[in-house]
Amino acid sequence: MDNNATTPLDPRVLDEMMPFLTKEFGNPSSTDHQYGLKALKAVDNARERLAKLINANPEEIILTGGATESDNLALQGVARAYSTKGRHIITCSTEHKAVLDTCRFLQTAGWSITYLPVDEHGVVDLEALESSITKETVLISVMFANNEIGTVAPMTEIGRIAKEHEIFFHSDAAQAAGHVPIDVDEIGLHMMSISAHKCYGPKGIGALYVRGHNPRIRPAPLIFGGGQERGLRSGTLNVPAIVGMGKTFEIARKEMGLEAQRLFSLTERMRQSFELNFNASLNGHPTNRLPHNLNMFFPGIESKAMIQSVEKEVAISASSACTTQEVEPSHVILALGFDANRAHGSVRFGLGRFNTDEEVDYATSAVSGVARRLLNIRSFETFTQPGLG
Ligand SMILES: *Cc1c(COP(=O)(O)O)cnc(C)c1O
Repeated sequence: MDNNATTPLDPRVLDEMMPFLTKEFGNPSSTDHQYGLKALKAVDNARERLAKLINANPEEIILTGGATESDNLALQGVARAYSTKGRHIITCSTEHKAVLDTCRFLQTAGWSITYLPVDEHGVVDLEALESSITKETVLISVMFANNEIGTVAPMTEIGRIAKEHEIFFHSDAAQAAGHVPIDVDEIGLHMMSISAHKCYGPKGIGALYVRGHNPRIRPAPLIFGGGQERGLRSGTLNVPAIVGMGKTFEIARKEMGLEAQRLFSLTERMRQSFELNFNASLNGHPTNRLPHNLNMFFPGIESKAMIQSVEKEVAISASSACTTQEVEPSHVILALGFDANRAHGSVRFGLGRFNTDEEVDYATSAVSGVARRLLNIRSFETFTQPGLG
C-alpha cells in the first residue's frame, strides 16, 4: 500500500512490451528498413495515446527517462532559453525534490526563486502567487498533485493567473497523470511532467508535454546528441518502455473514472476507521486530493515504529520514497503549518489498482493492532516513568 512511491506493472502493459523486448528490436531513428519502421510506428502510437490522455498533440510529447528528468528539462531548459526575459521562478514549498533541488541549483546560478506557502490542506496560496509576480518572472511551476498528502492544486486558477501575466506555467503531474482528468489546453499549461511508473507502467520512462502553439515554448535541451525528440532529448529511444507507457495511459484513460471511485471509497473507509479509533486526522485536502492517497496523523504514535512493526505484512511509508532515508521531518507536513511532532507521527497509505477490498480491510486492522500496542506501551512508559514521559 505504497502506490504513491511506485506501482506494480499492469500485466496488460507487459504483454504489449514483450515483443519489443524480444523480436522487435529496431531503432525508431533507423527507418531505412522494416525493423526501424516498426519501432517508429510503435513509438508514434504510444505518443498519440499519451497526447490523448491530456488533450495535447502528439508532437508536443517529449519522451524522457521519467518525471525527474522532465522537471529538470522544464526548469533548467526554460532558465537557459529565456534568461533574457528575466530571472525569477515561482514555485511551491511542497514540491517534489526534483523541482525544489533544481530550483536551489538555479539559485546558485543567479536566479531568484519564490517558494509559495500553502494552507493547512496543502493548497497553494493564490494571493501570494499573484503578489509575488514581477517583471522578471519567467515561469510558475506548481505540482498537479502532491506525492505525500495527495492535495490537488487549483490548476485552472493558476493557469488563468499565468496567462493574465504572460508567464509560462509548468506542472509536475507525476502523481496526477492517469489518476485524475487532465486537459492541458483548458488549464493553459505550457509544460507538464509525466511518469509511467506511478500509474502501473515501467520505471525509467516519462514525458514532458511542451506546448507547441499559442504560445509555443522551447526549453533548451539538457542532453545533446542525435537530435531525437525534436532536439530536446537526444539518445536512442527506449522503445519497450515507451510502448509500455503508451499502454499504461491508454488503460488509465479508459479506467480512471471507475478506479478513482473505488479507491476513494476505500481510502475514506480507512480514514473513518482511523479517525474513530485513534483520533487520527487527515493531512491534505478532504476532497481535492488524489483518490488513492491517504496521509494520516496518529497522535502519540511514532510513524517509524508503526511502519517497521507492520512492514512484514503491509508496506506503508512515512513520506515520499525519496526522503524516507532522511531523519528530517517531512517538508510537506511542516509546510501545512504543523510541527515536527505531527510530521513524525504521520503515515502515508497509497492504495492501488491491484489492492483488493479484503487487503484494505486487512491492512486497516493490522495497522490498528500495531497502533493499539504502541499506544499501550507509551501509556505504560509514561505511567511508570513520569519524569521521562
Ligand atoms: C515520483 C515523482 C517524481 C519522480 O518521478 P520519476 O519518474 O521517478 O523520476 C517527481 N515528482 C513527483 C511529484 C513524484 O511523485
